[in-house]
Amino acid sequence: MLTATCHCGAVSVEVPRKPRRLTSCNCSICRRYGTLWAYYNAADVRLVAARGATDRYSWGDKSLRFVRCSTCGCIMAWEAAHPAASSRMGVNARNFEPAAIEGVRVRRLDGASTWKFLD
Ligand SMILES: [Zn+2]
Repeated sequence: MLTATCHCGAVSVEVPRKPRRLTSCNCSICRRYGTLWAYYNAADVRLVAARGATDRYSWGDKSLRFVRCSTCGCIMAWEAAHPAASSRMGVNARNFEPAAIEGVRVRRLDGASTWKFLD
């Protein structure tokens, strides 16, 4: 198991294994957040936070919600707004200890326009 934690420690995200690949996306929100995504089946991800310790943001078609720590603001994950529509979940790998993801390949996704990998 691997745990990602926000800066203040109020929120953590547990995943079953080290990611096989990370995605750096240039879309309008990911480039601002500076996130690095590791994808998992939502059923395998455990978000650990006290009630009220997280805030959520969605935009556009509102199919995804970005989850952040209400105290320190770190972006922890995105989740499907309608779990029936998608079983995927994105975990922000920036919140893992750097050594935990050392050597994992990072792919650059052109989420801003073509939705293809640029590398
Ligand atoms: Zn925090």
